[in-house]
Formats: sequence, structure tokens, C-alpha cells
Amino acid sequence: EPLIGVLAVQGDVREHVRALEAAGARTRTVRRPGELDALDGIVLPGGESTTMDKLLRAFELRDPLRAAIGAGLPAYGSCAGMILLADRVLDATSGQQTLGGLDVTVRRNAFGRQVDSFEEDLDMPAVTGDGAPVRAVFIRAPWVEAVGQGVDVLGTVATGPAAGRIVAVRQGSLLATSFHPEVTGDGRVHEYFARMVRSSSS
Ligand code: GLN
Repeated sequence: EPLIGVLAVQGDVREHVRALEAAGARTRTVRRPGELDALDGIVLPGGESTTMDKLLRAFELRDPLRAAIGAGLPAYGSCAGMILLADRVLDATSGQQTLGGLDVTVRRNAFGRQVDSFEEDLDMPAVTGDGAPVRAVFIRAPWVEAVGQGVDVLGTVATGPAAGRIVAVRQGSLLATSFHPEVTGDGRVHEYFARMVRSSSS
């Protein structure tokens, strides 16, 4: 069984641990550089990306995590985690940096101040096969404003003022969603990531 880390400097760590274990992975919470050793994949949870950026430096995790992701460690970022994986961020706070690796431009808090959080059903055929849509929970979420070549769009908003906005992407070993699949009890996004990890470590 693959060993998947969950970055545990901030955010909803426990929910990701539970979803990954339900998907058949072993898990380890990651707060120190040494805890990156021997991981087969890592999850970057939601939270607040500017705070997480500061904490990553304070915990001396930023450089080793960047290096690991750059060397091909599969990573899944949700919400703030998506921002951490993005190469470019719009509406970043001054001095905010990301880990990068994912050739996308994201916009922070993109859905507007009035709509802090909302839910939507998303068709994600690459993730669900022919199954039911994924109930996506967005909480002060970013969207993906532009994608580079080699980035697959896995999900877009279907209706409303944000229709057409990209909210799930994959580029090789990197997966990112604007939303929080760990809070719904629907394990399919974590199962998809666990399959990515298994096929990359075999
Ligand atoms: N708005 C947050 C940020 O910019 C992300 C919110 C979340 O992760 N739920 O980091």
C-alpha cells in the first residue's frame, strides 16, 4: 500500500487522512523535513495559502517539499493546496510565494466576496468514470484562470455566474481541485489520487 503524507502545518488534515485511508493508502502527517522521506505521495490541504507559505518556511519544509515535487513526488492540492502548487497566482498577498510545479495561473478568492462558500455538482468523467457527478464544496476558493500545455482540465463549473471556470486540473503527477472533497464523504477524488500514486510508484 502506498504511503501518502498529509501536510499538517495548517488546515483540515484529519479529513484528508481519513479519506486517504478509506482509499486504501497508509498515511503520515508531515510537519518536519524528515517526514518527507519515503513518501509515495503528498496531499496539501485547504487552509490559508499565505499562512501556509509562511509556515512552510518556518518549518523548513518549503525547499525540500519543492525539491520533492520537482523530482516527481505525486501531489494533490485542495483549495489553498491548489494555490501552493500553482506556478502563478493572481490576487496574491505581497511576498506570497508558492511551491509551484503546476503550469497554471490561479486566482485567489476568485468567486467573489459575497459568495464565500457554495456547493455544486461537477461532472468529472476522468475521476468518476460513468458515475454520478461529484458534489463540490467551495470555501473562499480559487479558480484556475489559465492552463499551460500539458495540463488536463478535469472539472469546470457548469452553471451560474462562474460557469465555465476551471476548478480541477491534472498535470502528470500533480492534481489540484478548487474544492474540498474531503468534507463530503465522497471518496472518489482521493481514490483517483491514490491510483495516480500507485501507478507512479510501481
Ligand atoms: N482563500 C484561501 C487562500 O487563499 C483558500 C481557502 C481554502 O483553502 N478553503 O489560501
